[in-house]
Amino acid sequence: MREYVQARWSEPLIMEYPDRGPAVYAAPLEEDLERLNRERPVPESLLRRDPPEIPRLTETELIRHYTRLSQMSYGVDQGPVPLGSCTMKYNPRVALELAFDDRVTGLHPHMPVEEVQGLLQMLYELQEWLAHITGMDGCILHPAAGAHGELAGTLTIRRYHGLLGRAGVKDEIIVPDSAHGTNPASAAMAGFRVVEIPTAEDGNVDMGALKAAVGERTAGLMITNPSTLGLFEEHILEIADLIHGVGGLLYYDGANLNGIMGYARPGDMGFDIAHLNVHKTFSAPHGGGGPGAGPVCAKAVPVGDTGLTLLDLLPGPRVVYDEDEGLYTIRWPGRHSVGLIRAYPFNTIPLIWAYIYILSMGPQGLRLATEAAVAKTNYFLSLMKGSKGYSLPYGKGRPRKHEAVLSAEPLRRETGVKADDVAKGLLDRGFYAPTIYFPLIVDEALMIEFTETETIENIEAYAEALKEIEEISKRNPQEPKKWPLKTSVGRIDQVYANHPRTMAPTWRVYLKRRQTG
Ligand SMILES: *Cc1c(COP(=O)(O)O)cnc(C)c1O
Repeated sequence: MREYVQARWSEPLIMEYPDRGPAVYAAPLEEDLERLNRERPVPESLLRRDPPEIPRLTETELIRHYTRLSQMSYGVDQGPVPLGSCTMKYNPRVALELAFDDRVTGLHPHMPVEEVQGLLQMLYELQEWLAHITGMDGCILHPAAGAHGELAGTLTIRRYHGLLGRAGVKDEIIVPDSAHGTNPASAAMAGFRVVEIPTAEDGNVDMGALKAAVGERTAGLMITNPSTLGLFEEHILEIADLIHGVGGLLYYDGANLNGIMGYARPGDMGFDIAHLNVHKTFSAPHGGGGPGAGPVCAKAVPVGDTGLTLLDLLPGPRVVYDEDEGLYTIRWPGRHSVGLIRAYPFNTIPLIWAYIYILSMGPQGLRLATEAAVAKTNYFLSLMKGSKGYSLPYGKGRPRKHEAVLSAEPLRRETGVKADDVAKGLLDRGFYAPTIYFPLIVDEALMIEFTETETIENIEAYAEALKEIEEISKRNPQEPKKWPLKTSVGRIDQVYANHPRTMAPTWRVYLKRRQTG
């Protein structure tokens, strides 16, 4: 295994650097800016009065500053990031280059459709492909994140029942307790009461509890399949019948479709609405790599005898193709739709990224990505088999899909070393930590997802690291409490770091606080 030591610089904030004066500016840039401003002047009302308090530095200083910061950080370009569920999947560089092409980034959302036909064609085809991949009848690309897609979906469910005249009755959304936290939050934001259903020992939804909860008030059910435990819900067809039987709708959280993509489709399982995270499954970066996009797909479920379908209720614009004119245009949401849930139509760059990814993979490639992701999860679990310190709760003997949740509870009971300490030990061994303490139904949870592109060697090294941490914990339980030792920042006081009085969201706030003490 490679020895890991992270760089440690005492690097000031960029604002704390001394100002080098106007002379250090790269001259052509200044001229460019002046020329741009002459040609396309910024409206007077938008010009800021006081200049930003940023020191003027030389190019070399600036590059060194950010290079040092990057050396004190850890990312997918350095090593594995098996952060379950929210994992950085493959971010192909070819997509980076194409998605940031001037012909994409130079466009403005207010340009006439005739001038952006190429872009609209890509978005139109993406809508079609995503509908195909999910087994739905149509998609919108409007929401800016997964959770935003969920809000779009739950508002659509609300509108559906409202148009059917049963808004007052249908006020509950059922969510399993293994769900991503955004699910109950989105349902509550859309005005529903959230009914939580426990997970059975076999990893499926507890059907007894579900049957008891489903009733006249059930507006719908939100579920991730495979669940956050990485387990495929074996009763999904029965669940769909139950919910549809009381007039409810089925919502699919498809943030991590890479567990089944190309093999199974939510539309075929009985789902009516689904969102996807292009910044997880479809290779757009996230977590500081830029904004995401959460397309929402739906079936053309008729809304009573209104002549409308669910597709008419989805928020945001849709790209349509006018065959007579041979023109791609934008159809704005109609009066029965949820409307707009953000100012502009689409977060174009991550969507183009997803388009390039799907185009370059093709249907077979998408299947292959799923196969590789699932095989790697299960290979990892085979390496952990027989472990005393880490158990695999729920679904005993069942294979996992894209991710697996280990529990460090046996280790904690024996040694007092917790999931948090294990995570710090992994940092010291050159790995990004797994998602910890989620899902909430697993004690001392370590939620691990390698993704389709991680190497076998790294997966083996990761399993070895977990075992080494277990051994050290048994020999000397105090040792792990000191970790991490090899990272640029040691163990932080998490409560202090998250306290609103500690956090300074901007430089100005920081300065003000420093003045007032
Ligand atoms: C990441 C994730 C979400 C939320 O997506 P965001 O883009 O972060 O808002 C929802 N559900 C699941 C299962 C996820 O993994």
